[in-house]
Amino acid sequence: MSKWVYGFGGGAADGDASMKNLLGGKGANLAEMSSLGLPVPPGFTITTEACVHYYSNGQTYPDALKGQVAEGLAKVEGVVGKRFGDAANLLLVSVRSGARASMPGMMDTVLNLGLNDQTVEGLAGLSGDRRFAFDSYRRFITMYSNVVLGIGHDRFEELLDDHKDRQGVSIDTDLTAKDWERLVGDYKALVERELGRPFPQDPHDQLWGAIGAVFASWMNDRAKFYRRMHDIPESWGTAVNVQSMVFGNMGETSATGVAFTRNPSTGEARLYGEFLINAQGEDVVAGIRTPQSLTRAGREEMGDKAPSMEEAMPEVFGQFVDVIGRLESHYRDMQDIEFTVEQGRLWMLQTRNGKRTAKSALKVAVDLASEGVISREEAVSRVEPAALDQLLHPTLDPMAHRHVIATGLPASPGAATGKIVFDADEAERLNQLGDAVILVREETSPEDIHGMHAARGIVTARGGMTSHAAVVARGMGRPCVSGAGEIRIDDKAGEFTARGRTFRAGQIITIDGAKGEVLDGAVDMIEPELTGDFQTLMGWADEVRRLRVRANAETPHDAKTARGFGAEGIGLCRTEHMFFDGDRIAAVREMILADDEAGRRVALAKIEPFQKADFVELFEIMAGLPVTIRLLDPPLHEFIPHDEADIDALAASSGLDAGKLKRRARELHETNPMLGHRGCRLGVAYPEIYEMQVRAILEAALEVKAKSGDAPIPEIMHPLVALGLEMKYLRELTDRTAHAVFEAAGDRVEYLVGTMIELPRAALRAGDLAEHAEFFSFGTNDLTQTTFGISRDDSGRFLQAYLDKGVFETDPFVRLDQEGVGELIEIATERGRKTRPGMKLGICGEHGGDPASISFCESIGLDYVSCSPYRVPIARLAAAQAALAAASGEEREKDR
Ligand code: ADP
Ligand code: MG
Ligand code: MG
Repeated sequence: MSKWVYGFGGGAADGDASMKNLLGGKGANLAEMSSLGLPVPPGFTITTEACVHYYSNGQTYPDALKGQVAEGLAKVEGVVGKRFGDAANLLLVSVRSGARASMPGMMDTVLNLGLNDQTVEGLAGLSGDRRFAFDSYRRFITMYSNVVLGIGHDRFEELLDDHKDRQGVSIDTDLTAKDWERLVGDYKALVERELGRPFPQDPHDQLWGAIGAVFASWMNDRAKFYRRMHDIPESWGTAVNVQSMVFGNMGETSATGVAFTRNPSTGEARLYGEFLINAQGEDVVAGIRTPQSLTRAGREEMGDKAPSMEEAMPEVFGQFVDVIGRLESHYRDMQDIEFTVEQGRLWMLQTRNGKRTAKSALKVAVDLASEGVISREEAVSRVEPAALDQLLHPTLDPMAHRHVIATGLPASPGAATGKIVFDADEAERLNQLGDAVILVREETSPEDIHGMHAARGIVTARGGMTSHAAVVARGMGRPCVSGAGEIRIDDKAGEFTARGRTFRAGQIITIDGAKGEVLDGAVDMIEPELTGDFQTLMGWADEVRRLRVRANAETPHDAKTARGFGAEGIGLCRTEHMFFDGDRIAAVREMILADDEAGRRVALAKIEPFQKADFVELFEIMAGLPVTIRLLDPPLHEFIPHDEADIDALAASSGLDAGKLKRRARELHETNPMLGHRGCRLGVAYPEIYEMQVRAILEAALEVKAKSGDAPIPEIMHPLVALGLEMKYLRELTDRTAHAVFEAAGDRVEYLVGTMIELPRAALRAGDLAEHAEFFSFGTNDLTQTTFGISRDDSGRFLQAYLDKGVFETDPFVRLDQEGVGELIEIATERGRKTRPGMKLGICGEHGGDPASISFCESIGLDYVSCSPYRVPIARLAAAQAALAAASGEEREKDR
């Protein structure tokens, strides 16, 4: 018989930390902590397989589940010595979701389950604290109604606020037993009004209602969105944890809190976190009361008055520090921990590897390696390459003038400028229109995730360092200022006020997430400095990396940036980008308008010195490194305007003949330019264009060699080749031109001739091409277009539908389609190298900077990847991880 239920608690467990797939992250770690002998309230986990069964069997439970849950519950009763539903000796439970990958705040937890009109009296009697009992009951009704019965949290909040106003109290802890009892009555009446039936009183009905709701929450919109954003398959399902309750709301010696063993923003090796006395569960992160620091040092730093846990409950604190130290050494990584203190007794409720900013990830990895806890290789594989993006982007110029509107907490580092938006949907809409926005909210909730994703930065008026906004923003790499209490938001008017000034939606603000400041207008930014931990880790990565990493760059600025980031050459220099500036475009147009070859050669002679000068500059920056130069690729009509008015304007300003321009524009017009007269088809039809470019490249190389003695190695690349004979023609053209250049100069440089593989035919006939081509570079942007028959520029109209319906798992222009396009690349690799053993192979599409695609490139033995300059460090790290994974012969388990 299948086992659907795994118990934990009392110093033992059926499962362990390795069983995340089956028990979910939370369940597996609760089991592990129990086995380690840590104080964990006993409970059991219903497996993710039960959830999978539920969804593949018309939302029904496996037959054996009921019995196994009853057994699980009985065991818990045995360990705790209390009984579920027994008012005289009451056991209450929490029902908690927990998938394989942590999805913070995506699904809801129900606490205090098992309370009803009878058992609440029992709890009051047993605890001798009526206030506590009814506080717990009202929390239960609110959560259960919200999660299971679908009645919004705010409905209950309204009743609570009204009641507080009537009593003239402002904080929950000032309410008495009587108050809560009254509110429980109001709450139950609300439920009955809404549903037409009373709030469920049978604890077993409550339990199954909550279990069903956790399963159902796996398919709610928040969960779906989060999964899509983080590549989590729907097929995994979630586990359900049912756990005996411990109470942080039993008076002044009770508390609840969250902690990180190291700082999740900076990585500093010091306990970090918050807690609240006499509170329960999510109170800490909900921003209802301001949480207190865990440590004295933390309190002093924040300038808080309320005592820290270290000061308020020193004994439990000492025990806590001990426990979390054990957890960190056991898991060998920074831990994110949830705990509760019930009347002076510590209980551990959750541990997991903590989410962190890139800065923190680097520091923690480098520190752990330096402390000897993990190896350097492990440190390299611990940092998510894509997260480096956060570090590679600008921060506020410290010298720039700042006009501070409001200050809050430095919840997630980085700087961002954008238009004020108050609503998540609006943030998404404006972002799609290309506007940079800053989402400004009272506080955020999981419903706002899509808006936070769309925003450049986030500001909240309420909430602490571990509030929803702070945690999610750090995870997404969005700068965030939380708890900026000076900001008063008026949603309806679409404005906020701060320090006596009013700011309307659409106005520009800047936020500094590292300082916790909100600033007026746009503020100057500076380039990041990549030193310290970054350099250390990248050095370790480079030691294990096999793939070379180059950059796609044509301007000197991009080439310098790329070298600064550690690029080992240029993998794609698009020469047409050099044709658009000032005088050049005039000569290019003259060439296009020329009536014959002689006319074209006259115009080309004007372009040549510009081309040569550009290459000299590029070769100097890339001294001694390979530079792949793609000869002219776009169709010629891209260089002249299309519509009449633009042509007339051009004619007027340039002195070109308007009539002739119009005629030529008509002649060059193409129905489908992507498949038209472009790429090497230009070189075959007008060889003089490519001859000029080859001459410019080689003369520039000779000049740099003469100047510095260090000759670059140009790799001359012909685009869009499909046929062996095309390649033969182009190879001969190139060699003939080179020969002439070298003859004239009385000197020579090394160079390679090759092609970009961007057509399926080229991939299939790579053996023919390799007869003449000395290297291939996979142009995977176009290869994806031509393999799928999808124009990237027009795919926007249906791509979203494909993604929504799961027909595409990911956008194939972002992540290489390994099955189709990948197979063509493999075929070309194999056939090319069969003809020309050891030929140089690389990739230069956008995929060259995507970690998953890089891992594919490693697996099929390409020599290098080439990506945009800002992605070079990401590619270096991803290449190192791919090499490590290949070496250990196993897929790197994504560290979640
Ligand atoms: P999430 O996945 O959103 O963090 P959890 O299942 O961890 O949700 O529950 C949220 C909070 O509820 C916990 O951090 C803890 O404070 C509280 N909680 C959960 N289970 C219990 C329990 N058995 N006893 C006391 N508090 C609990
Ligand atoms: Mg929750
Ligand atoms: Mg939790």
